[in-house]
Amino acid sequence: MTMSDARGPLVVATYSRRMAIRLESGEQVIARVKGKRLRPVCGDFVEAEPISNEPEWLITAILPRINELSRPNTRGKVEVLAANLSFVVVVTADTPPPDWFMVDRYLCAAELMAVSAAIVFNKTDLAEPDGVTKDTLRTFERIGYPTVPCSAKSGSNLQALQELLAEHTAIIVGQSGVGKSSLINRLATDADLPTARLSESSGEGRHTTVNSMMLELPNGGAMIDSPGVRDYAPSIDNVQDVVRSFPEIARIGEGCKFSDCQHLREPDCAVKTAVDSGEISARRYESYRRLLALTRKLSEGRY
Ligand code: GDP
Ligand code: ZN
Repeated sequence: MTMSDARGPLVVATYSRRMAIRLESGEQVIARVKGKRLRPVCGDFVEAEPISNEPEWLITAILPRINELSRPNTRGKVEVLAANLSFVVVVTADTPPPDWFMVDRYLCAAELMAVSAAIVFNKTDLAEPDGVTKDTLRTFERIGYPTVPCSAKSGSNLQALQELLAEHTAIIVGQSGVGKSSLINRLATDADLPTARLSESSGEGRHTTVNSMMLELPNGGAMIDSPGVRDYAPSIDNVQDVVRSFPEIARIGEGCKFSDCQHLREPDCAVKTAVDSGEISARRYESYRRLLALTRKLSEGRY
């Protein structure tokens, strides 16, 4: 889905129960939410109406979502962070050192939402990918994930990233300190617009942090920045979803003897054979096993 498929007012920033919505006319207004049950997030298309004698609008309904990115909150409930995405940008860099397991988990989330994903290697002005990183990035390319070495600081290769995101609604994720804010500031056309307006209207000043916001990209796309998901890879709650979320394992796994093979100790496992031959990366397979174990623990309630 793209911004041009707009179906009514779009939520472009959230701050608690207040949101900035972009009307179909292009005008941005501040809106409150009707009732406690309704929980709009960035990327949601909503029904909204002006409140008489007030500058604010009222959101009365959320239109059906194409997908949602969520995570369990501290009370064990699922919290939706953004909706109607079409792209996940996972940012890495030489410093802090990449946590590839976390990268894989973000990619899994993208697979389960059925959206595209790419891996950015930022800060190339400081360091180009080293040997191991290069191999790892090549593995991602082979699976089908584009990789973009670039620098938010020098601007090097940002064009490639921009082209990749054209017409997409993307969310940017990755470890703290890899340069997500810096990339957004370079890429977005309206870097602090919804934030500033929402903070001002909340009466808490310009420096109030919004929960999440959607920024326009120059070539028709948009990028959602949601602090809730930035440093946190969403968990998966069932084993079949883990198998599904590693595309190369799912594809080769079709050749396994058992259709419900989990590719661990089963006989005639095509995945194990492919790992032994190097067709499937040993690192990705290890990541798969770790996520499988983690998911089992979660689904059995043993945190
Ligand atoms: P975030 O936590 O992922 O949002 O990362 P920030 O955008 O806040 O960046 C973390 C630090 O890395 C800051 O000190 C930035 O100035 C620096 N940084 C970000 N991008 C680059 C880059 O391309 N090159 C260099 N040298 N530093 C960068
Ligand atoms: Zn198998």
